[in-house]
Amino acid sequence: MRRSGSALLASLLVLGAPLVAQRAPRPTAFQQQHQAAVNRLIDAALADSAAWNRIAELGDRFGPRFSGTPNLEQAIDWIMAEMRRDGLDNVRGEPVMVPRWVRGEESAELLLPRWSKLPMLGLGGSIGTPAGGIIADVLVVSSFADLEAKAAQARGKIVLFDVPFTSYGQTVQYRSQGAIAAARAGAVASMIRSVGPFGMQTPHTGGMAYDSTVTRIAHFAITMEDAMMLHRMQDRGQPIRVRVQMAAQTLPDAPSRNVMGEIRGREFPNEVIVMGGHIDSWDVGTGATDDGGGVVIAWEAIRLMKKLGLQPRRTIRVVGWTNEENGLRGGNAYRDQHRGELADHILAIESDGGVFAPTGFGFSGSDSARAIVRQVAGMMARIGPIAIGASGGGADIGPIMAEGVPGMGHQVDGTRYFWYHHTNADTVDKLDPLEVARNVAAMAVMAYVIAEMPGRLPR
Ligand SMILES: [Zn+2]
Repeated sequence: MRRSGSALLASLLVLGAPLVAQRAPRPTAFQQQHQAAVNRLIDAALADSAAWNRIAELGDRFGPRFSGTPNLEQAIDWIMAEMRRDGLDNVRGEPVMVPRWVRGEESAELLLPRWSKLPMLGLGGSIGTPAGGIIADVLVVSSFADLEAKAAQARGKIVLFDVPFTSYGQTVQYRSQGAIAAARAGAVASMIRSVGPFGMQTPHTGGMAYDSTVTRIAHFAITMEDAMMLHRMQDRGQPIRVRVQMAAQTLPDAPSRNVMGEIRGREFPNEVIVMGGHIDSWDVGTGATDDGGGVVIAWEAIRLMKKLGLQPRRTIRVVGWTNEENGLRGGNAYRDQHRGELADHILAIESDGGVFAPTGFGFSGSDSARAIVRQVAGMMARIGPIAIGASGGGADIGPIMAEGVPGMGHQVDGTRYFWYHHTNADTVDKLDPLEVARNVAAMAVMAYVIAEMPGRLPR
């Protein structure tokens, strides 16, 4: 009767009938063993706004933390001093050479069919324009295919890619590859509609690429509103002319550091759970959501363990990786500098999607490990439903995951993240202190239980 039973179940679910009362599943022995410590961590995380305050102080004191700048290195010095004051173990900065791109003065204006200033941001890695700028007519296209269809009209123009946001992965192609495609069609510069789902006249910056076989042209972002307006002007048959001036340049690599502190394991100190985010940001805003918040919630998680006297069996190492945004040098350097320890890296957890309401963790690892991390997620129902997604990771832990370390990507409500991403509006006021505190709890519980359980998380 199994079949008819499940058919009945299916039909009841389709009808939306409540088959069983909403009740938490009976805790497993594993969960019972750790629940008391978990509750203490959650209580401590939710008790105050310490994490939000730290994100605010980091941004207010140092501003944007762009690779190669004194701001970033001073922020790293401050973090190390604060981590030592918190009593963390093995606080240090590990040297990494990072690229140094300098934006310089930049501006764009619409000359025809009417004059208007165009708020803009040069894209990271772009060359500058000649000192007097570039004045050229504009060709608006909707996609790479549309550019190919109109290639005969692109020569000598500034190409605008007016591509609406679908997903970040899809739309970002125009930021990263747009200058190559436009130059191949003979354009003298290229601009994109800022990559985001919603605008308030905020341009978004971000990384871009050149191809050694194609002329390098200046590449920049204008606001969503202006991109759509230029597109309407073209559709009406109006002439569009823009002047752009950019003093961007790439200087020699500069020294930076991956910054880290630990709570040392009491029984297996050489076994490491590594977690954190990237400490660098773009050169606009203060990198509150991308990714100061990711670093701070991981840091707060082990600060609370220290404060509560919860020293787990294994080491938890919190890392602020440097240069995620325009080079990934920090994540690669971590792999190289810790290659000998990677067999004992039990789990890597990265937070780089903002610190809005927590929703779970994407996990990439074995089925037996997945069953365990699901149980850990089940222990933090107090902070909201925490799901374990089918796969997860992150840019900074990617290099060590490629060497076999199980990886986890911290996940949050992503509704607003790309509103602020890589803009001057990425500041702490966009974050809610209680949501940030719930993220601290999620990170603390996940890392603590995996570090504390008697056996290693299986690979
Ligand atoms: Zn980021």
